[in-house]
Amino acid sequence: MPKLNLLFVLLLSVVLTTATAQESSIPPVDAAIESQLDEVLNQADSENSMQELLAIEASLTPETPLMTRVRTLNYIALAHGYLGDIETAFKQIEEVKEIARVSRMPDAIADVAATEILLLVMQGKVSEALANLNDALVPLEQATSPRVLYFVNNLASYVYQQRSQFDRALEHLIYAADAVAKSNDSRTLTRLITTKTRIATLYSQQKNYDLALQQLDEALQLADSNNLLDVYEVDILFERASLETSRKNYDTALGLYQQVIARIQDDPERLNTYISVLNNIGDIDIRMGDYVAARQVLERAYNLAQLNTDEFDPEVILFNLGYVNVFLGDVEKGLREMRQVVEPARETWSPAELEGLLGEYAEALVHIGQQNEAVNVLIEQRELREKAYQNEQQKSIAELQNLYDSKDKAMQIELLSQKNELNQQLIENESQKRTILLLLVIVAIFAMVFVAFAYRAARRSNRELKVANSKLAEQSVRDPLTGLLNRRALQNMLRAPHEVSHDAMLLMDVDHFKRINDNLGHAAGDEVLIEVSKRLLQVSRETDMVVRWGGEEFLIYLSNTEASKMPIMAKRMLDVIGSTPIKAGNQEIWVSATAGFISYPFADLNETQMDWEETLQLADMVLYAGKVHGRNQAWGVMALNKPFNEAQKLLETDLPGAIDQGVITVEVIHGPEQGSES
Ligand code: GH3
Ligand code: MG
Ligand code: MG
Repeated sequence: MPKLNLLFVLLLSVVLTTATAQESSIPPVDAAIESQLDEVLNQADSENSMQELLAIEASLTPETPLMTRVRTLNYIALAHGYLGDIETAFKQIEEVKEIARVSRMPDAIADVAATEILLLVMQGKVSEALANLNDALVPLEQATSPRVLYFVNNLASYVYQQRSQFDRALEHLIYAADAVAKSNDSRTLTRLITTKTRIATLYSQQKNYDLALQQLDEALQLADSNNLLDVYEVDILFERASLETSRKNYDTALGLYQQVIARIQDDPERLNTYISVLNNIGDIDIRMGDYVAARQVLERAYNLAQLNTDEFDPEVILFNLGYVNVFLGDVEKGLREMRQVVEPARETWSPAELEGLLGEYAEALVHIGQQNEAVNVLIEQRELREKAYQNEQQKSIAELQNLYDSKDKAMQIELLSQKNELNQQLIENESQKRTILLLLVIVAIFAMVFVAFAYRAARRSNRELKVANSKLAEQSVRDPLTGLLNRRALQNMLRAPHEVSHDAMLLMDVDHFKRINDNLGHAAGDEVLIEVSKRLLQVSRETDMVVRWGGEEFLIYLSNTEASKMPIMAKRMLDVIGSTPIKAGNQEIWVSATAGFISYPFADLNETQMDWEETLQLADMVLYAGKVHGRNQAWGVMALNKPFNEAQKLLETDLPGAIDQGVITVEVIHGPEQGSES
């Protein structure tokens, strides 16, 4: 639903009547037709819109100013898009592009490029939209029409927001607000208020709550002093309430939601907002631990949502309701409700969405003591997270490729030969690309020269080269953030032929790390990781390998370590991390970690029975057991009590079961008492 809302705002934002150009530098428009176009947008009814747009198109004459013609044709393309005829929409865009190209007007070029990007967004192709954004932003530098400046910056902001680049989203929204301030017509106020509200949302996402509040206050004042409270007050209050929720000012947030309810509860047009408010109140009740109140309000939300299914997805509410029921002791009902959502979600939700759902499901399972199932759900959740991460990576690669897309280049080269001022911009853009290519070429040449040198040097046994060589090798096995060895370093060591005697592995995962990022920001999270690394190095021996295994996961590979020594080592690791708070940003925070450890080779099994990766997997599984049993602890796999061929199946499929049945023995080591709740 938020997606739809934003699209709507975006389109409305296009409504901008620039009467006759006041400054000679602003391209002229036909005021009468422009206001007809505004009307069409105000209706937001695609069937009728198409009719009206075609009528407007028919009224265009060779004397109609180009910007007005381009705007009309762009809207027709958008209307095709809204009616689901994407192919015709893009065909139309190609024609408008040609008109804009011939005109050499930056405003027109930016306007049509942005319209094409909006069509991509409408199809959910946000990555592609992001890759093409420069096609609109480069000519925009030369554009002067407030409508175009507002539209393109708004769109850029939306695209960046979708890809979580909040700082850029904010920057473009502020440009958009600037453009509004320069316009002066019947819609200026409306646009100013909606833009301020959206700027507030972005500030809030960046945890810049004071600036967010300031924007909301200004928006409210503008609405008030222009008798527009009827239209905007509810949205602004809603925004403030969610801001106060993020700030953990729950009572204030509840008060604001009550004000929203008082204004909308009898308005059937705002049923969706009402359901969202009820769901958000339920969320606050859960955060405050008031499950009885949460159940009451969520039940009401669920009943309303069911009456209104095509507008509002009741699943999320049902899931929350299940969670609440579990915590209220109505375990069977609660679990049934949660499963009713989780099971179909496994098939249909995106990995990123499902991942969040599973986290809460696991929490509920832990609460009722079903640790075993919780472990399995958490392992499933982690696989999803990795998958979501990989999807993101692939998208970024696709974006880069798109940037070098020949079509894009052809258009830019074409532009290059046309407009002189524009040239400057494009040359910069092109030259950036060329610099990158040049760098790549240099790297390639370097590599070739290096090989050639290495070859000669090998013969001459050049000592300097050996030093350089080992430095290079060193760089490729270190993690840039913490300076620790990386995965590859360990893989290189273990895959090379070597003697394994009595080694051990301890895998460690920082507890509730996401909260640290969420509460204090990513940079503070990074500082914590650096400090944790330092502390782990402090307590490990020269011969141990301390590896950054993943985001907030560390692996310590201990050579020549008796199994009986491992609990002491594990205790030392937990203590060094959790006994004293870590300074991050300008705060001191208590950090703890959960670990799993195991000897390698495990139970004298040989490489073909259980290689190091399979051994590590066992450590990983007991680590998860540690997570669901309260965190800040280490679980060690100490012994195998059955012949391996009998135990294997159970170990691979149901580790908690293997522990329960005594197939393996585990030892649990607890971390230090902490100064405060983490
Ligand atoms: P749990 O106790 O269950 O492990 O909870 P958690 O919050 O630690 O677990 P989760 O795996 O959900 O969160 C890990 C987070 O670590 C998610 C990711 O955004 C963040 N992260 C991963 N790599 C980095 C990094 O290099 N820097 C920062 N700041 N955060 C990172
Ligand atoms: Mg983790
Ligand atoms: Mg973690």
